[in-house]
Amino acid sequence: MKKFEVAVIPGDGIGKEVVPVSLKVLETVAEVHGGIKFDFQSFPWSSDYYVEHGKMMPDDGLKILKNFDSIFLGAIGNPALVQDHIALWGLLIKIRREFEQSINIRPAKYFKGLKSPLVNPNDFDLIVVRENSEGEYSEVGGRIHKGDDELAIQNAIFTKKGTERAMHYAFELAKKRRGHVTSATKSNGIFHSMPFWDEVFNEVKEEYQDVQTASYHIDALAAFFLTRPQIFDVIVASNLFGDILTDIGGAIMGSIGIAPAANINLNGKYPSMFEPVHGSAPDIVGKGIANPIGQIWTAKMMLDHFGEEELGSKLLDIIEDVTNDGIKTPDIGGTSSTEEVADEICRRLKKAV
Ligand code: ATP
Ligand code: MG
Repeated sequence: MKKFEVAVIPGDGIGKEVVPVSLKVLETVAEVHGGIKFDFQSFPWSSDYYVEHGKMMPDDGLKILKNFDSIFLGAIGNPALVQDHIALWGLLIKIRREFEQSINIRPAKYFKGLKSPLVNPNDFDLIVVRENSEGEYSEVGGRIHKGDDELAIQNAIFTKKGTERAMHYAFELAKKRRGHVTSATKSNGIFHSMPFWDEVFNEVKEEYQDVQTASYHIDALAAFFLTRPQIFDVIVASNLFGDILTDIGGAIMGSIGIAPAANINLNGKYPSMFEPVHGSAPDIVGKGIANPIGQIWTAKMMLDHFGEEELGSKLLDIIEDVTNDGIKTPDIGGTSSTEEVADEICRRLKKAV
């Protein structure tokens, strides 16, 4: 019996609604698998915790989390209680940085039965590998002068190591999928970093003769999401470009409530963290209508990470069938509750094995 120790942080808002039902789904997966077991330990670290303790998590929080196989997180943020930047930097970003989660993985796939703004979304099935620790989101730079002469300088940091590891991850992923990697560049406009990005991409691709590649400028690439979505399998992108592309991906899927994500630690020193793309959604909290698919799909990514890919893909098929059969929350045009969607997924999981 393989045992996985998972730290669970439901967090704020609908995180507290979609995480418990996703744990039920994971328990069901373990039950039908027979050879794996999850040991969930839940932590109440959140904006409510902040109100009581003046911090988002205890001082030894990272030390506690470090010993787990992974972290399963709902959503962080409740602007009525804590300012967003304090909440995010006090927990989410702290974990991402301290645990060297240098890659952010965001799949986007069209599910039958969803309303997409694309005329023909059927072939939309891709994964964005987003560099998660450097790039354009750096603190290097500053502002000088005042008044009309004021100027701001923002430096983007691209290290060879950081760029290479994102690209290697993308190629390894592509080998398990349809064998194609697209690089998001902008070397016709950005003078230093993007020609460097291209160089590293060209070097890395030599190691993967069996993987096909393409390289597009980010502006054209973003347009191709809408006009030629079928050309993409795995896309490797910098922090900023990846951020923008994955929001377009979420919109094409039909709701932010179904988009999953994972922050991956590649050096094995720290746990990876699995959290959906959506936030705490204060506007729908307490109504029982939060879409649990983003969180459940995120759980599927955690299964993949644990090497349980076969059951993971079965789970994804079941999610798609449930959606296609109309068992949907209101954000994607249905009338079902959070619980009903998750219960139906569990029921079909038990039936499928
Ligand atoms: P954050 O700042 O925490 O990243 P946000 O406040 O910008 O997030 P969300 O909390 O993701 O954004 O909410 C954006 C919109 O999407 C809201 O109207 C919310 O109700 C809706 N939404 C987000 N997640 C879900 C979900 N799982 N199910 C249904 N609707 C959702
Ligand atoms: Mg918010």
